[in-house]
Amino acid sequence: MSASLDEAREVLRRTFGHSEFRGLQAEVIAEVLAGRSTMAVLPTGGGKSLCYQIPSLLRPGLGLVVSPLIALMTDQVAGLQQSGVAAARLDSNVDLDERARTWRRIEAGELDLLYLSPEGLMQPWMLDRLSRTPLALVAIDEAHCVSQWGHDFRPEYRMLGRLAELFPQVPRLAVTATADARTREDIRSELRLEGSREFVASFARPELALSAERKRGAGHKRVLELVKERPNRSGVIYAGSREGTERLAQALVEAGVPALAYHAGLDKAVRAERLESFLEAEAAVMVATIAFGMGVDKPDVRFVIHADPPASIEAYWQEIGRAGRDGEPAEGLTLYGSADMAWALRRLEGREVDEGVKQVQARKVRQLYAMLDGASCRAAAVRRYFGETDVAPCGVCDLCLNAPEATDMTEAAQKALSAVHRLGGRYGRGRLVDHLLGKTKDVSDFEAGLSTFGIGAELDASGWRDLLDQLLFEGLLREDPNDGRPLIGLGDAEAVRATYRGERRVNMRKAEPGAARGGRARRRGEPPADMSPHDAPLFEALRAWRRDEAARQHVPPYVIFHDRTLAEIARLRPGGLSALGAVSGVGEGKLARYGAAVLAVLAEAA
Ligand code: ADP
Ligand code: ZN
Repeated sequence: MSASLDEAREVLRRTFGHSEFRGLQAEVIAEVLAGRSTMAVLPTGGGKSLCYQIPSLLRPGLGLVVSPLIALMTDQVAGLQQSGVAAARLDSNVDLDERARTWRRIEAGELDLLYLSPEGLMQPWMLDRLSRTPLALVAIDEAHCVSQWGHDFRPEYRMLGRLAELFPQVPRLAVTATADARTREDIRSELRLEGSREFVASFARPELALSAERKRGAGHKRVLELVKERPNRSGVIYAGSREGTERLAQALVEAGVPALAYHAGLDKAVRAERLESFLEAEAAVMVATIAFGMGVDKPDVRFVIHADPPASIEAYWQEIGRAGRDGEPAEGLTLYGSADMAWALRRLEGREVDEGVKQVQARKVRQLYAMLDGASCRAAAVRRYFGETDVAPCGVCDLCLNAPEATDMTEAAQKALSAVHRLGGRYGRGRLVDHLLGKTKDVSDFEAGLSTFGIGAELDASGWRDLLDQLLFEGLLREDPNDGRPLIGLGDAEAVRATYRGERRVNMRKAEPGAARGGRARRRGEPPADMSPHDAPLFEALRAWRRDEAARQHVPPYVIFHDRTLAEIARLRPGGLSALGAVSGVGEGKLARYGAAVLAVLAEAA
């Protein structure tokens, strides 16, 4: 007799302290409780982990969770232990004593959840040992890692396909936050889920206000401005290189912002220490390469800034998605340029993968820039990319708030294309602009004699540079790297011809310097803006208590209670344990652990 959804709801209430399932959680959980394998694509912050945690608690046996990163496992296990759940992890960071203890608990049937890396799970001795252990389910987190069409392919995930035959009676649950239709196909075939149901939630993240702007000039000035406009808040800034993270962090520190750099080139201990101080801080800025991220579940990240653009829309959504995991308003801001796009495409060409994969990846790069440089709702563009239909504009992104005025620039574009054609793709951007304006220094007779020389009086130099960018984004022009002195040549021949004939129009949005001011995310310092002044001191007192408690236990504060839960407590001022237990986020485990202390804080403040 399998457990029912009512029992699942009871666990949700008692153990996790939430009153209702969210989105597709109930459906996914019901499927797994019935013993059926399934795949679920839920947005970041959508509550994927409960989809396997709750069935692991309800089904007999041990729930295995496969996860790509140790940081992710560490956080989840710490959170579960706080809620009184018997969970453990076996990864390379766990010492021998701890391992032995964990195995004893497994063999005594005392453990409900075990977190493992894919290569850890698939070791023969591990499989052998687990084959003698009753299993509740196998959850494969970040399942998009199995697909080479995805954006984060991890070859070791491929081995997980064998789980179907190794544990034919055990339901497998593949979960991910980002997978376009093709990646979903791949997950299903690689993980042998062909006959299984698939749950795909909406990708909407209404709390996220998105914006993007073209890079202007070199350097970090714009990033510094953006950060300074958002004081006392936690944020993540992604930069394209290790060196870039160091320099930017340095510049931020000099500007008085508590910033840390994070990248894979740092010593492991330094990384761990910085990660910990970021997680435990209430306002800190992490300047990182993409080595930082997956599995960093700090819920109160209020902004993510791409100082350099991400690699694809999947990566964009995942990286931006690290803001606002607590559901409170947050922002995602992206700086991008045509040189970034050229570089991304160039790097792809150098990769040793099938031609077919390369083409897919190149298309992903173009789709990303089309979205960044587009003129209509960004959130809607992303959701359509993930296959959603009937998507309404979000109403909070820069483009929704400030619909850019588009100007038809087809005629100027024709001039630029023909200048590039006449010059034979031998020049870079600066020289091209000079040519259009008839300002080329020491111009040769050949060049001065071309019909395109000086035909561009309608725009000034920066206008032409913007237009050239636009043509690069649209693929009408392409940039040849030429060892760091890029040359501009014609792009897609078909599209160029259509533009010459006027069948394809080139619309450009009016450049708005500093457009990324955009999003309307209510800027929340602390306390939350919608908190009444009456509750704020109590909220602060609760946070101070939490800070001490977290420091004592050496865990991030949000593992104890989220801000949202503390705000709710400050508002409701529960008079006793049972009222406190009714607050969302206060399960039985936490009530037993912290109930008295929280009530004491309330009493003291009264
Ligand atoms: P993700 O899908 O990104 O892995 P998590 O499982 O980490 O998301 O959940 C994100 C946050 O949402 C967590 O803080 C979790 O406690 C909260 N959450 C999950 N399910 C619910 C629910 N049904 N009601 C309220 N909060 C929930
Ligand atoms: Zn929008």
